[in-house]
Amino acid sequence: MSTFVLLFIVCTLQAQNDDSIFIRRIADEILMNGKAYDDLHVLTKQIGARLSGSPQMAKAEQWGLKLFQSLQPDKVWLQECMVPHWIRGGKDEATAITGNQRKSLDVIALGNSLGSGKNGVNANVIEVKSFEELEAKKDIIKGRIVFYNYAFNQKFVKTFQAYGDAVRFRSTGASQAAKYGAVAAIVRSMSESTDNNPHTGSLRYDSAYKMVPAVAIGLKDADWLSNQLKKTGLLVTLKTYGRFLPDTIGHNVIAELTGSQVPNEYITIGGHLDSWDPGEGAHDDGTGVVQTIEVLRVFKALGYQPKRTLRFVLFANEENGLRGGTKYAEEASSKGEKHIFALESDEGGFTPRGFSLTGSEEQYQKLKSWQPLLCPYGGCEIESGGGGSDIGPLNRSQKTAVAGFMPDSQRYFDVHHARNDVFEAVNKRELELGAVNIAALIYLVDKYGF
Ligand SMILES: [Zn+2]
Repeated sequence: MSTFVLLFIVCTLQAQNDDSIFIRRIADEILMNGKAYDDLHVLTKQIGARLSGSPQMAKAEQWGLKLFQSLQPDKVWLQECMVPHWIRGGKDEATAITGNQRKSLDVIALGNSLGSGKNGVNANVIEVKSFEELEAKKDIIKGRIVFYNYAFNQKFVKTFQAYGDAVRFRSTGASQAAKYGAVAAIVRSMSESTDNNPHTGSLRYDSAYKMVPAVAIGLKDADWLSNQLKKTGLLVTLKTYGRFLPDTIGHNVIAELTGSQVPNEYITIGGHLDSWDPGEGAHDDGTGVVQTIEVLRVFKALGYQPKRTLRFVLFANEENGLRGGTKYAEEASSKGEKHIFALESDEGGFTPRGFSLTGSEEQYQKLKSWQPLLCPYGGCEIESGGGGSDIGPLNRSQKTAVAGFMPDSQRYFDVHHARNDVFEAVNKRELELGAVNIAALIYLVDKYGF
């Protein structure tokens, strides 16, 4: 072995040792003095659900701004963007009538769906389990309510795959049903929970067809409905009140630690500040928001001076428009900022498992080489192909490598977009360990580049 090779190995080992010591300090600070859990308590309990355009959303922006300012980064600002302003407008209701039996169903209108009006929709229900079945039954759809009863495929070990597989019925089911004359749609909730809470989420109308009301139904009621329909015809009365107000002003809340050596290379860490309205937006995405803030707090607490410029972003309007993420990428490009890496935490605040990356093979190998440093804190799995909705536009506009923080996925869809997505569903240790992993990865990307 030449002296040069030996020196190289010694230096590499020394660097790894320095890194593991610094990451240990990050972990100690977060696990001993962490603020993420307390921050989440304020966000969920004092502010609550944060639909785009709602007063709580505006309150959350001010909360985020003040919290960032209190940590004294180099810069803090609000980045304005126009956001859609959908309101639920009332309490969504559905009643099933069979013979002289009436049963109220636990439903919630899908986000962006238009209301039924005061008189409601009153029609026979027809169940389908696929779009192919809808197509086959197209001649008997007219005047009916289409019930999409497609369950999460239990064979997927990672629940995001089951969600990705099923979510088409929520996003496009209403318009596909309206195409054949349906008057409304009921969608089996995007969940595999054992309770009966309905899970909302956005739908997209196809403007070619009538915009019919659409609701999600709790899983127990979905099974009940399906069983009843096997025995007899069934009438459902549906009342929803959703509507759009004019677009309104929203903001990304941004803090920056300016790079000391390569300030024109940007690294973004973020989560989204908006949420759906039935719960408190705790796991989606309060946890990503407070983890983002915690990463800034720990760097300041340890006196860490980044080489590159670090941006901490609480994105606006992820749930029903993505206007925040879009605006952030547009401004980055128009200012000629070079964004080398972006990371989002938007898969819940559960036990950390690792990271997923959309980038080059070389970048993937680099991330993989840091696995021994992250693994002691839970971040052992390095997957390819991930990211986050809000950082997607950066990847599309300037090929920024994007990563998704990947916590354990088993319980996420028990609470996702439902009334039980509340502070109490979040575990303090799991939340903090997530912040440790994110901070550790950001430190490594900053130190070595990407
Ligand atoms: Zn989310």
